[in-house]
Amino acid sequence: MRSTRGNERVQPSQAILRGLAPDGGLYVPETFPEFSMETIMDLEEASYEERALKILSGFLPDFTVNELKEAIHGAYGTGFDDARIAPLVKLDERTYSLELWHGPTLAFKDMALQLLPHLLTLSAGKNGEKREIFILVATSGDTGKAALEGFLDVPGTRCAVFYPKDGVSKAQRLQMVTTGGRNTHVIAVEGNFDDAQSGVKRIFGSSEFARTMDEQGRVLSSANSINFGRLVPQIVYYFSAYADLIRDGQIRPGEEVNFCVPTGNFGDILAADYARRSGLPIGRLICASNTNNVLTDFIETGVYDISQRPFYKTVAPSMDILISSNLERLIFTLTGNDPEKTAAFMRELAEKKQYQIDEEMLNRLQAVYACGYADEVALKAEIWKRWHDQHYLMDTHTAVASAVLREYVEKSGDTRKNVIVSTASPYKFGPAVLSAIGGLDVETMDDFECCVKLSALTGTKEPEVIKKLPGTPVRHDQTCAKDKMPEALLEALKRSAERME
Ligand SMILES: *Cc1c(COP(=O)(O)O)cnc(C)c1O
Repeated sequence: MRSTRGNERVQPSQAILRGLAPDGGLYVPETFPEFSMETIMDLEEASYEERALKILSGFLPDFTVNELKEAIHGAYGTGFDDARIAPLVKLDERTYSLELWHGPTLAFKDMALQLLPHLLTLSAGKNGEKREIFILVATSGDTGKAALEGFLDVPGTRCAVFYPKDGVSKAQRLQMVTTGGRNTHVIAVEGNFDDAQSGVKRIFGSSEFARTMDEQGRVLSSANSINFGRLVPQIVYYFSAYADLIRDGQIRPGEEVNFCVPTGNFGDILAADYARRSGLPIGRLICASNTNNVLTDFIETGVYDISQRPFYKTVAPSMDILISSNLERLIFTLTGNDPEKTAAFMRELAEKKQYQIDEEMLNRLQAVYACGYADEVALKAEIWKRWHDQHYLMDTHTAVASAVLREYVEKSGDTRKNVIVSTASPYKFGPAVLSAIGGLDVETMDDFECCVKLSALTGTKEPEVIKKLPGTPVRHDQTCAKDKMPEALLEALKRSAERME
């Protein structure tokens, strides 16, 4: 593998252990494995774990088959409420929903964060790293819980999450502070998400803190979405969906399929592109945005511009993003794998808050990607329509993709089959989903009451993890000032060591 901004070559395990390249770039594969149609057809009768083993072996050549097998089983063997792990549901003759939210936190981040801790500890072993890997996360809600669940009691790891004290929903807070395990820490910061994020960045930048950790036998690391170890598990489910489509007689082997992906940091849709480059017959990748539609403009015009752009808080919060970090990996490809050009674009973005790709790059981009966006009115109408027409309940993020797909098919006349990537359980965004399907008095109810009502109104099953949350004991009650995060972390480690004695 190599960095998007330099020429150093590393093994996948090093890339995963480091996260970001020392030159500030992101790690990308130099060449892509090639999966033939015969290989893909072999996946038809395979379990999700077997499918993952096949695909991951191609991308992670410095891991042995047995290592990967164990890691995959550790990730997907338990904790999912559907044995198929990533089931594909048919909505109509040409449209399918790939449900990626059957994991422990009910959102697609689990698909990667359940596997990443195992890949990280294996990577540490391969690179002579003996210290405990200590993951720090600043979260605006969902990623924190997914990371805590992923690292929960994984030997050789520890995970601490900082969240803004008044900046997460009641359900999100409860999900985090009730986390069990011997290696998890959750700390509320008196400040907003930016304060928490800047605090974590300062801790990562402090050589003094690094020394203290080293003395304790620990090394800090990050689990954020630019790590190749988070990208690579996401490639698997695109192959898995395609294998299901052939197995169920929905497509002929080799037939092209479109995927429509609700996009924020561009990780999920980029994984689809990597699947395409490894042999999966993908027609169009449709990039769906909410009102924060910087990517729609970029794919239409080739201009990425955040200089004048307002930031909207929407009911699809995981897509509320202005800088899509993983886009750098696509830019690198569009430049013809040129690290200097890529670095120059990223410098422009940092300095001028915008850049423009040339005609040739734009043509390459538009040959694969289509795009669109849906605002709050459109996404709520889409939830209603899918429920009314097909009795299929969607969350707010999935609804963005569904609305964008509807418009794309109408305008383009594209007759290929389409898979909507469904990224969260509707119960994760109960109030918005309930109001979209016509639930009354939503404002007067909390998240939990909305979920009970949603279940009663639709006859769909409320997930156990949400049902039992209000009764689960709180295990983390630490709070700190925004300039005291390192001290709070040391205190948390001390408390946990005392509990162990
Ligand atoms: C993170 C997230 C997304 C966006 O995925 P990216 O890989 O960041 O583009 C979409 N939907 C949900 C529910 C998410 O949690």
